[in-house]
Amino acid sequence: MSDEDDFNEFELKKDIKDPKRKWADRIVKSIKIYYKKCPYFDLHSGDCFIMEGEGDKCPRDGKYEGCPVLEAFLVKRYDEIKAKGKTLPYDFRDLALV
Ligand code: SF4
Repeated sequence: MSDEDDFNEFELKKDIKDPKRKWADRIVKSIKIYYKKCPYFDLHSGDCFIMEGEGDKCPRDGKYEGCPVLEAFLVKRYDEIKAKGKTLPYDFRDLALV
């Protein structure tokens, strides 16, 4: 195994153990239950509600799996929820209630 393989494996393990990413993955899985397109994607204009204000269109046509914007948003929500001392929801629909 090369040094690069070792490093990649290390990075992979690090990513999997990161509780923020783990939680974000779980929320994305719950989104899949309810939505075909990203819940933050405006079907009419093609805008991304998360990027709203920057005038940006969703560059992914609402395909949210692996979207870095969605992941960054969820990681930010994780920090906000933790900072408030509240319990993390595990279903996307409960996220707006926290
Ligand atoms: S950029 Fe990502 S978060 Fe925004 S609408 Fe598109 S898929 Fe959803």
